[in-house]
Amino acid sequence: MSEKDKVEETYWKCTNCGYTVQVPVPPEPCPSCRKACEFHNVTCYAPECGFTGIDPRLT
Ligand SMILES: [Zn+2]
Repeated sequence: MSEKDKVEETYWKCTNCGYTVQVPVPPEPCPSCRKACEFHNVTCYAPECGFTGIDPRLT
């Protein structure tokens, strides 16, 4: 896996509505609630996350 691939697999979660999306850069406005929400990086690469790509501890 290259550095570029890691970036493309970043997961973002809207702190306002909980919308989660997999994109290099968080969308603005949020596609779900259509506001300029703050997105948290919830990406996880560890096996304990179940290989879903999202860290449940961060969501
Ligand atoms: Zn939102």
